[in-house]
Amino acid sequence: MPHGRSVPEVAYPERVSTPAVTGPEPLAVRSGAPIASRPLIDGFGRRVTDLRLSITDRCNLRCTYCMPEEGMQWLPRDELLTYEEQARIVRVCVERYGFESVRITGGEPLVRAHLTRLVEMLAPLGVDIALTTNGVKLAEVAHDLAAAGLQRINVSLDSLQPNAFLALTKRDDLARVLAGIDAALEAGLDPVKVNCVVMRGVNDHEIVDLAAFGREKGVGVRFIEFMPLDAQGAWTADQVVSASEILERIDAVFPLTDRPVQGGSTHDHVEPAERFRYADGIGDVGVIASVTAPFCEQCDRIRVTSDGTLRTCLFALDEFDLRAILREARDEDVDDLLAAEIERAVAAKWAGHHIGRVDFVRPNRSMSQIGG
Ligand code: SAM
Ligand code: SF4
Repeated sequence: MPHGRSVPEVAYPERVSTPAVTGPEPLAVRSGAPIASRPLIDGFGRRVTDLRLSITDRCNLRCTYCMPEEGMQWLPRDELLTYEEQARIVRVCVERYGFESVRITGGEPLVRAHLTRLVEMLAPLGVDIALTTNGVKLAEVAHDLAAAGLQRINVSLDSLQPNAFLALTKRDDLARVLAGIDAALEAGLDPVKVNCVVMRGVNDHEIVDLAAFGREKGVGVRFIEFMPLDAQGAWTADQVVSASEILERIDAVFPLTDRPVQGGSTHDHVEPAERFRYADGIGDVGVIASVTAPFCEQCDRIRVTSDGTLRTCLFALDEFDLRAILREARDEDVDDLLAAEIERAVAAKWAGHHIGRVDFVRPNRSMSQIGG
């Protein structure tokens, strides 16, 4: 399998002539009757069904691949959407376009107070609710989140060695993260997964140990290629360990089945990870090849930042202002205007990111400011 020293060219989906976006009727012909949900389809024929909802840009760790130790400028609190505003956006996505899943993220979502309240507001929408967290505060709230309606959780864990964890995150919190993973399992969140960003020369020597940890705990580990979204702008291609190299290293110790797992659980079609089972039947492992083999062709998601801008890709350069609609429009117009803006954004969604190409432009927000 090829190793990830450079970033290869990738294939992108073709633009389809019709349909661009299959959305609600124009406002003028609305009858006021309940609006039936219709698929939201982008210009490349991809249906959008998944919302990544960032609820804060703040964080209690300083992962080196994400943000600097000092100097991040946090958004003023009044610029963050309220939970009510966030729930309204999710409701519009679910009611009008049949969205199936929402993932709450950040920054670190557990540093925002009373997250269970947002989960309780989303639960009646009948949508699959997931959370991505660094796990530091998870042990304190895992049971309450599960009781409120949270179903699935991804906990980030990039090292099992306290010193390496401290060097990577600038905080001495490994024990709390491990306790958070245990609490999530005890609370019945299912699945519990571990996200691990691999950086060459930083934590790539722990790939097999992290895979072993996942097998012992019964949690699927998802190894993620390092993307050029660190706030410092220090990313270079030679720090990326390719998904194929990660799989080779694991396979050498814990043999993997030849073919990736197809489907298997309700929301596998939205999972960017390519998953492989261990040949001995003990669990699986996934790789997210965002750099060397992006999944843009299957992309089914949009993102809303904590200050209420809609982005159709992590690497998008365009943003659509939902907060202005939520705060400035007449209340009875807000749903329609949100829907129109969501359609406008999705119609403009591009085929895929350009990492590794000469025309690649870094977005002006970093990962924690967009919501990973
Ligand atoms: N704070 C939470 C956490 O760390 O899980 C949620 C937000 S974080 C931005 C979401 C995911 O993005 C995490 O799994 C994190 O490891 C990943 N991430 C952050 N910066 C990244 C980068 N430059 N390349 C790849 N993944 C990154
Ligand atoms: Fe915080 Fe998550 Fe970024 Fe780490 S990856 S600094 S935990 S937002």
